[in-house]
Amino acid sequence: MSDVVSVTRDGDVAVVTIDNPPVNALSHAVRKGVFDAMAALREDSEVKAIVLACAGRTFSAGADITEFGKPPQPPALIEMINAIEAMPKPVVAALHGTVLGGGFEVALGCHHRIAAPGTRVGLPEVKLGILPGAGGTQRLPRLIGAIEALKIIVSGDPVPAEEALKFGAIDEIATGDLTQAAVALAKKVGAEGKEPARVSDRDDKLADVKADPTAFNEAAGKLTARARGLEAPHACVEAVKWSFELPIEEGLKREREAFMKLVAGDQSKAQRHLFFAERQAAKVLDMPKGTKPRAVDKVAVIGAGTMGGGISMNFANAGIPVTIVETSQEALDRGFGTIEKNYNISVSRGRMTEADVRQRMSLLTGSTDMNDVADADLIIEAVFEEMDIKKQIFSKLDEIAKPTAVLATNTSYLDVNAIANMTKRPSSVLGTHFFSPANVMKLLEIVRGAETAPDVLATVIDVGRKIKKVPVVVGVCFGFVGNRMLRARSLETERLLLEGATPQQVDKAITGFGFPMGPFAMGDLAGLDIGWRIRKQMGATADGGRADIADALCEMGRFGQKTGRGFYIYEKGARAGIPDPEVEALIVETAAKQGIERREIGDEEIVERLIYPMISEGAKILEEGVAQRPGDIDVVWVNGYGFPVWRGGPMFYADQVGLKHVRNRLAHYAEVSGNAALKPAPLLDRLADEGSTFAAYGREKERTA
Ligand code: NAD
Repeated sequence: MSDVVSVTRDGDVAVVTIDNPPVNALSHAVRKGVFDAMAALREDSEVKAIVLACAGRTFSAGADITEFGKPPQPPALIEMINAIEAMPKPVVAALHGTVLGGGFEVALGCHHRIAAPGTRVGLPEVKLGILPGAGGTQRLPRLIGAIEALKIIVSGDPVPAEEALKFGAIDEIATGDLTQAAVALAKKVGAEGKEPARVSDRDDKLADVKADPTAFNEAAGKLTARARGLEAPHACVEAVKWSFELPIEEGLKREREAFMKLVAGDQSKAQRHLFFAERQAAKVLDMPKGTKPRAVDKVAVIGAGTMGGGISMNFANAGIPVTIVETSQEALDRGFGTIEKNYNISVSRGRMTEADVRQRMSLLTGSTDMNDVADADLIIEAVFEEMDIKKQIFSKLDEIAKPTAVLATNTSYLDVNAIANMTKRPSSVLGTHFFSPANVMKLLEIVRGAETAPDVLATVIDVGRKIKKVPVVVGVCFGFVGNRMLRARSLETERLLLEGATPQQVDKAITGFGFPMGPFAMGDLAGLDIGWRIRKQMGATADGGRADIADALCEMGRFGQKTGRGFYIYEKGARAGIPDPEVEALIVETAAKQGIERREIGDEEIVERLIYPMISEGAKILEEGVAQRPGDIDVVWVNGYGFPVWRGGPMFYADQVGLKHVRNRLAHYAEVSGNAALKPAPLLDRLADEGSTFAAYGREKERTA
């Protein structure tokens, strides 16, 4: 008996219960408790079978990741699992909640698995840059076949019990009380008196791949096709291969070695940083304790354009009805048409059924009368990016919205406070900055205005989670966290062209760094005309910098992919651009006109000049308090802008590279180019002098908050 593991009896069945709230993480005390309980029950002749269960809201949801990187305390998880599997009497795992990672590996070490309805099982280790290191890669293939196991292990996504039952990952779904059902099963198998059915002893499900691994290799290729730059998914494939190439002891040994290697590597450190950062990012340091979110049962969205449509889909997907308001029936029809088209794409990819689409569409109501938003709990404005229109809309909303409604703007750059001040209730106003395509992109920047009330903030954080976004709370400034840093990068991209680089060279250096796309390909995809129009409206300097090449391209009608030409040429239907000599000539000519002598520019300089100014801007954002923590900035860039996950986000990356190096390189570029915008931010300068890190700065801020 220990504090976290207890043993009770039900006739000749012993029930071993782990009780380590909140998620029964497999801490040292739990491992030792279970290990000792098994040792005692092994010798107990009155016990014929054992049930392993967990108290609280879930079976074990995995290892205790706070123990990662610390000296291991025996018994290791794998020793505990091996001890369970080696028991001479049957052990039944009683599963409920989210049985993940080490928790599922424990279940695989048991001889039978029974689950409550609604249970989900999975091995999400890959998402932390590691692989299941306690037998998961060796036992799951033996239990359900190598290809099915590979899908679960490489995706890291949890599987509902009903599906797990189909391919044999669990044996039974309990009806009625789970523990009683598990005890009944234990009594039955205990009475049979047979040698327990150990997953390690099986190889019937591996016969196919042993005979011919072609299908396995094909599946592996598909599953890792999108894992650019990531080590863990490839390591998972290797490990699953060992399950049918090697005896179990050898497979387990290699799995352990691969796990140790990944866990000590930079990629896993970056991914674990992001795992914690995502959970932190929605926590508001000065949120009064006990702040309750308002209920959001009805939503209204103003504008059915690119963003309004996508935003509405998120709520429909979560079962929340939405009223969408447009200026004309025609605009509504167009918006609804796009939504339906997007849903149908999901159907054609097998991610949704037609009935799902009908159900979701039935939650969306169109209107051309603004008064129809009067009963909405949350109203999100997503009209053109023009202050005057937004101001008009908010004064109207102030007249008609119910007193408890939360009023949000999806603006990309505009001053949320100025918008809030158009109402007599600025405490109910804030920004919800979704990213395009809004039904897909995970990031939700929640822009807190000067007067936004805590419960209004809490409401949007809460609903953000419900619609499966990653909420990050940020403050008001031009472009908030993401677009403000993007702008710092954009200012350098054109300068690189004028100084000697080509668009393709810049893009290649940035994809080489790990972004899915380079800035010029991205510009072509999004449409070069957007920035061009803004620059024309605001005057070139209002944007803080000129974009002579992009402007010249737009003057030529080259708006990017949609016109077939931009920085690249796009042949009919092609998404990948081809370099265009005409663009290169334009760059050379513009540079000559501006008296800039072009030179060879290496990839390293490109990366430094595009990433380091962003880091410096991030430092300003931190010091101003626009972001609460460095990790929040990382979460924004990884989830909204394709910063490579395995580099942990720009601020984490800066700490890895060393702030002194980042500062010195920026100071160097500022000096040789005479461009003051490249000067390192004061905070970066100070931390570099102190030999400190953004992480240390963030911890100190959190401590004193
Ligand atoms: P869009 O041009 O695709 O859609 C705007 C829609 O608003 C149009 O359908 C228009 O008819 C409608 N509209 C205009 N005035 C209206 C009014 N008074 N009442 C009701 N509807 C009205 O624009 P978008 O790309 O969806 O952008 C909307 C907002 O989202 C902007 O503030 C933009 O800055 C922001 N945003 C856009 C993106 C993006 O990538 N497109 C990303 C993040 C944020």
